[in-house]
Amino acid sequence: MLLKITYMGENTTDLGYLLHKNPNRTQSFELSFGKAYVFYPEATAERTTAALLLDINPIDLARGKLGSRDGGLFDYVNDRPYVSSSFMSTAISKVFSTALSGKCDNKPELAEQKLDLEAEVVMLPCLGNKDLIGRIFTPLGYEVEFSESALDEKFREWGESRYVTLKLKGKVRLCDLLNHLYVLIPVFDNRKHYWVSDDEVEKLIGHGEGWLNAHPEKELIAARYLNRNRSLVNSALAQLIEKGNGIAEEADSAETGEVTPPAEKDAPKIRLNDLRLQAVADAVIAGGAKAVIDIGCGEGRLIARLINHKQIARITGVDVSIRTLERAKSYLHYERLSEKTKEKLQFLQGSLTYKDKRFAGYDAACVVEVVEHLDQPRLPAFERVLFELAAPPLVVMTTPNAEYNVNYERLQPESLRHSDHRFEWTREQFQEWANGVCKRFGYAAEFSDIGERDEQYGAPTQMCVFKRT
Ligand code: SAH
Repeated sequence: MLLKITYMGENTTDLGYLLHKNPNRTQSFELSFGKAYVFYPEATAERTTAALLLDINPIDLARGKLGSRDGGLFDYVNDRPYVSSSFMSTAISKVFSTALSGKCDNKPELAEQKLDLEAEVVMLPCLGNKDLIGRIFTPLGYEVEFSESALDEKFREWGESRYVTLKLKGKVRLCDLLNHLYVLIPVFDNRKHYWVSDDEVEKLIGHGEGWLNAHPEKELIAARYLNRNRSLVNSALAQLIEKGNGIAEEADSAETGEVTPPAEKDAPKIRLNDLRLQAVADAVIAGGAKAVIDIGCGEGRLIARLINHKQIARITGVDVSIRTLERAKSYLHYERLSEKTKEKLQFLQGSLTYKDKRFAGYDAACVVEVVEHLDQPRLPAFERVLFELAAPPLVVMTTPNAEYNVNYERLQPESLRHSDHRFEWTREQFQEWANGVCKRFGYAAEFSDIGERDEQYGAPTQMCVFKRT
């Protein structure tokens, strides 16, 4: 198992300071699963390469010394000692721990600087899904190259090997490169050498800080990193979104020097919020719904409008963020509600982009100002979760109308109303998407405007009421 990191430029032997490993000698480290070696195959002023080599004893693995308390995780003949996997992440965190945290006492400014770096990961397992490599690494700004090899040179007909040698090239800080590798190498492998538990979520959030929340494949990364353990994945996504929201709020206030809400709050926001929630509540009541699920319920403002209506027998608020659900409880004064009202009301933590049986069995689902928070590659998953699996007779959705943004003075052209928005649709784009959903899943759509209408650009919010046909 081999990882090489190359620094190109001037005085590149400084890589030794950054990694806290002297280029002039080979060092070895005892790890619980074997030995790690660090050495420098090249170290010139223009180009210095550090190599991290892991030597894992396959017999120990098979005999169950490693990875599990009750017997070996793996068979005698296995790929574990050779492929880049979670062992490599563990080695990075043990051998390069200071560099991983971005610290360098000798050259602090260099640790902060983006450098011309290259990483080579030898034998990355990548069965049948090589385009994943691009989807995972290109959004982080790397040039990506990988070489495949035949399974066996003598037997070409056996096809390509499931392993690739990956090369990443980019202008990044060394600590960013190491954190990317730490999180992403095990994403390509489907076996962790240890039991995945709560503290893995913490590691993912910690090492993903500053980049994972904005990554378009963050859900796939979290799911694979956490061995698809549903509750851990949910918890990780919730924390990422909470962090994302925090960053968004800070960015807004940094811009203006005051605690300013996003662009939409400029003038008519308060009214707009009210108008929007009233329009959704009216559509739910007009549609005759008794059991309602509000997905991405936020602070529970829609729930507050509906809960005391005589038609409503059951209402559930879902949000991916636990902290938001707590805020909703406090907004609704949950503790002070009557027992009868409490019986009607339920909160669930969950994500709109994961299959969830708990979303089924309602007359209406509301998704108010949420879809624009989803990464676009996740829209097909969202569609299936809502329109195919939950499939309520009525769905009410709202989303910003991007065309109207020209009316917000503080908003730069082409920018979005909130920094956590992943996109904002024009009326045509929303209608095209919604009409596609109707065709695919058997619904009929009706569109309307919410808020003050601009002749040319329409209203600030667009709403769609979907009815199952
Ligand atoms: N519907 C509310 C809140 C809108 S803000 C209102 O109109 O007032 C968007 C909300 O969607 C946030 O609370 C956020 O935590 C939640 N959210 C974002 N991504 C989500 C996902 N994948 N699944 C469920 N909720 C999500």
